Amino acid sequence: MTDAAALPGQPRDAVLSGPATARAVNVLAPNASAMTLDGTNTWIVSEPDSELAVVIDPGPLDDGHLRTVLDTAEKAGKRVALTLLTHGHPDHAEGASRFAELSGTAVRALDPALRLGDEGLAAGDVISLGGLELRVVSTPGHTADSLCFHLPADRAVLTGDTVLGRGTTVVAHPDGRLGDYLDSLRRLRSLTVDDGVHTVLPGHGPVLDDAQGAVEFYLAHRAHRLAQVETAVENGLRAPEEVVAHVYADVDRSLWPAAELSVRAQIDYLREHGLI
Ligand SMILES: [Zn+2]
Repeated sequence: MTDAAALPGQPRDAVLSGPATARAVNVLAPNASAMTLDGTNTWIVSEPDSELAVVIDPGPLDDGHLRTVLDTAEKAGKRVALTLLTHGHPDHAEGASRFAELSGTAVRALDPALRLGDEGLAAGDVISLGGLELRVVSTPGHTADSLCFHLPADRAVLTGDTVLGRGTTVVAHPDGRLGDYLDSLRRLRSLTVDDGVHTVLPGHGPVLDDAQGAVEFYLAHRAHRLAQVETAVENGLRAPEEVVAHVYADVDRSLWPAAELSVRAQIDYLREHGLI
């Protein structure tokens, strides 16, 4: 989900579908919308010389898409051996159980309700498959169950909806919390600064090849929006809908319901910090 704030300084577009790094291939789901940008990115990740692949976010329940994901892996000489979820929103996870059925794989996710099979998924876990290594990074904020997957060999991170390829994301109040989200962005920034991550492989939109710039843009954007919301409330706007109409006046109205979730999360944050 995006709130599509169009601010200057967006990193440039790169890959929308197909191979993005040596180990990651995107299969774009046919569910484009104002909220999902070009559609959901379903990632097939594997070592170049291995026949085993991981699929991250099968996407919506769309048999054609799920079969295209399997065909794409097969044409590359790969067998899908595991399915992972970045979070439980339907545009990422709704097709997971059908995909598990088609591929014969387990589904691992932070939220136990989304798992299929014995194994869960937790921050700090390292997924190893056919020489591939993915490190699980805790990134709550968009939702409470949001995870990112660090792919060190490609200096890349798969971000789900925590960082998108275009625009900015929603803090999906009340499940998503702004304080958590800011901490998660700082955690991602440290991946770019301390661990050499260059590339963002997002859940929607194009690949970004300036990961640090993208994360810093997100942090600046959140600070900017937070200041706008604080000012709006101080100027007497009380209802979240009024704050949205004022702060998101330049954003398409179809995105206001999503913006309202972010505004509610921001008002909570300001209250908790004694700022309003
Ligand atoms: Zn989402």
